[in-house]
Amino acid sequence: MHPALAGLIGAGVALACCLFVYALVRGKHDWRRLEAQRMADKASRELHDALHTLQSGAMLVGPHDEILVVNEPGVALGLARGSRVGFADLLEKVREVRAAQQPYRGPVLREFHPGEDKLELTSRITPMVDENVLVIADDESSQKRVEAVRRDFVANISHELKTPIGAISVLAEAVDAAKDDPEAVERFVRRMQLETSRLAELVNQIIDLSRLQSTDPLLNHDVVDVAEVVTEAISRSQERANQRDVTLMLARTAQARVMGDRWQLADAVTNLVQNAINYSDERARVTLSIMTVTADGDMFVEIKVSDNGIGIKPEDQERIFERFYRVDYGRSRQSGGTGLGLSIVRHIAVAHGGTVRVWSRPGQGSTFTLRLPAYLGPAHDTDEETR
Ligand code: ADP
Repeated sequence: MHPALAGLIGAGVALACCLFVYALVRGKHDWRRLEAQRMADKASRELHDALHTLQSGAMLVGPHDEILVVNEPGVALGLARGSRVGFADLLEKVREVRAAQQPYRGPVLREFHPGEDKLELTSRITPMVDENVLVIADDESSQKRVEAVRRDFVANISHELKTPIGAISVLAEAVDAAKDDPEAVERFVRRMQLETSRLAELVNQIIDLSRLQSTDPLLNHDVVDVAEVVTEAISRSQERANQRDVTLMLARTAQARVMGDRWQLADAVTNLVQNAINYSDERARVTLSIMTVTADGDMFVEIKVSDNGIGIKPEDQERIFERFYRVDYGRSRQSGGTGLGLSIVRHIAVAHGGTVRVWSRPGQGSTFTLRLPAYLGPAHDTDEETR
């Protein structure tokens, strides 16, 4: 073979080998790149899925403050508005975290427009790769509110219990000291009995309330004749009415039935009637009525209790349904009130799918209306059938 030809062939073979090795290395490199890309896509999908499983608000913000992922709770909290970060304080914190590459844990103040209501969210904001930033946020304010109401309730109960217990203990000492004075002993004993019944009433009402706040507040599910409930409430209140010379009248009655617990309903109406007696002048008149009304195509039964007593100022009308709220503490206590009556009425109404509302004018009187869904089915009267 001509040496030049042999050299040419050798060079060709060497080039082919080089090309082959190059292609091999390049192919491996491309494969690695593709694999890395595939892994990154998978990780991003997993992160996306993970954020969507969280109950907290979660959002991934890109390097130019663009939203890459936001889950449903995040949208509900307003973390994102379209493709932008939802509010100024959060955007500022996201930028600080990205710049400092340091996580932030603490509050962010949500205010969509200056001057609007603010809401404090707790947040964890963390720097991620490629200048992305992860935001996790929660609204703990409703939890804090529930906790505050619970704390208030416990504090109120302790205070309310301490008053009659303290009185009984003082009266017991007074009885001991007045051993030789039978008249004084009798007087102290009568007051002790009053404080004891006040204490018993308070304890019973606290038990009623905690029952009514449970997940299954109704003791029975019966078909209840509303006229019977009202008659029961009148007969339970008659003695108190006689003491104050107040006339109880059933002005209007309609044939109506509801589904629920007759004793709880009678408790609710009794509370309303007793209040009407207690917050009226002596020789006043308290009127009850039953009527059926239709609203939005549904039929309801309304029990109204009206008095022409002291009335309630507009600013107190919503608050009187709160536990332990009393407009005039002295008058309430004097009539044996605990401040829990209307709160119990509201819970009983709600447990029956109903409402209670008040109309009142100071000096003129008040009308409380208990509205319950009417029962229109066949008459039956057993727990088993309706449960
Ligand atoms: P209380 O045991 O003090 O009567 P309630 O919860 O039944 O507690 O009522 C709360 C407050 O609402 C009462 O202390 C009273 O100030 C006011 N109130 C309730 N019913 C009437 C009414 N018919 N007329 C005027 N004020 C009323």
